[in-house]
Amino acid sequence: MIDMSLLPTEIKRLSKDELTQDDIEYFRDKYEKRFIRALRAVEEGRVIKYNFEPSGTTKWIVRGQRREYLVIPQVFCTCRSFYHSVVIDREISMCYHLLAQQIAEIREQFKSIESTDAERRKMSAELRRTD
Ligand SMILES: [Zn+2]
Repeated sequence: MIDMSLLPTEIKRLSKDELTQDDIEYFRDKYEKRFIRALRAVEEGRVIKYNFEPSGTTKWIVRGQRREYLVIPQVFCTCRSFYHSVVIDREISMCYHLLAQQIAEIREQFKSIESTDAERRKMSAELRRTD
């Protein structure tokens, strides 16, 4: 298994109301451009949590440039970078979508959308794409 959890010290840094220059430099050193892209996705409201009724299930979506990606927190993302760079090449531990989801959840800075299980099934067909 690839460890995709942030360290306790990283969670603490991200929990603060305002990130300092020091925080940003720390994360940029560790996650490079992905951190900036992730932070931008969070700030632009592109991290979305769907709550489906009546099942009570949830889905995390990160809206990218061209399409939406399904993120299973600390486990999986449907983007190409996750498949190639995380799973196959093992170059990185997370794509920027996985990072964005964690930042959004820690900072409680995500959109919540109430939906239905019928809608969830429709979404699943589109999200199964991994290109
Ligand atoms: Zn991804």
